[in-house]
Amino acid sequence: MRAGLGVLAVAALASGCAQPASGKAAAPAAGPVAGAAAGAHALRGTAARALDSYATRLRAAYAARAAAAKRWGLRRVPLTPPAPPARKPHITVRKGFEVDDQEELNLPPVFTTIPTDEKIVFLTIDDGAEKDPAFLRMMHDLKIPYTAFLSDFLVKDDYGYFRQIQSDGHTLNNHTLTHPYLPALGYAEQKREICGMQDVMEKQFGRRPTVFRPPFGNYDQDSLRAAKSCGIEYAPIWNEEVFPDHWEYRDGELHPGDIVLSHFQGPKEWKGTMPDMVRRFLDKVTAEGYAVARLEDYL
Ligand SMILES: [Zn+2]
Repeated sequence: MRAGLGVLAVAALASGCAQPASGKAAAPAAGPVAGAAAGAHALRGTAARALDSYATRLRAAYAARAAAAKRWGLRRVPLTPPAPPARKPHITVRKGFEVDDQEELNLPPVFTTIPTDEKIVFLTIDDGAEKDPAFLRMMHDLKIPYTAFLSDFLVKDDYGYFRQIQSDGHTLNNHTLTHPYLPALGYAEQKREICGMQDVMEKQFGRRPTVFRPPFGNYDQDSLRAAKSCGIEYAPIWNEEVFPDHWEYRDGELHPGDIVLSHFQGPKEWKGTMPDMVRRFLDKVTAEGYAVARLEDYL
């Protein structure tokens, strides 16, 4: 019985591992069990080996993450997020961020925070001007999930950079063709900006996103109607923004489920690099007991 429970526990824990270790996880330490002829012995041996192997993988994953944290100059090892929720939260428009007839027209909700009690935050990175290879290496090493919102005029000189982000497991989303202030445009022009970017995303990255972020966080009813017309279901904005040298808050501090904004920027615009920004981000969220989760797991 205990062996059976052990196997179940292993399965539950393993499926709860949101970020499996890289392929470099150590092989199971235990070798074949000599003389385990009886079925019961074999079963116990299998369960013991599974537990052993799982514990070994966990230790290896933590060791890899700790080593990566040290290598990239983090003050602490980032926390592991909880398993994705079995039932997705119901996302509604943030109060004060509605447009006319938001509900009647069933328009994509604009929100800054995912409803959750878990101490998690979400990292989103916008635009696409800076294409820093060190940032790709850092995020690959640390296995921190994030979501990118791309604007075509900034990414089109190097779609390959963003394909690497995609192949590393991160989601690419819509941030318009030319990053205009949408409320200044009419419906047809807004539709061209948003739905035109859907076409680019499909052509370059093989997928039409369901998630869209209006440039500058500015939008009107036309923006959300246009976005909905070409398959957008969610319009997340943000509750904090992080830079290499400081944070800016909408509500004064971090909250469970907050969406954090940053940018593909570098020393030309910032007092630092993208890895500096990631350090600033992770050092604070880890110190405050937050893990970084994958936004799409909650949508
Ligand atoms: Zn932007």
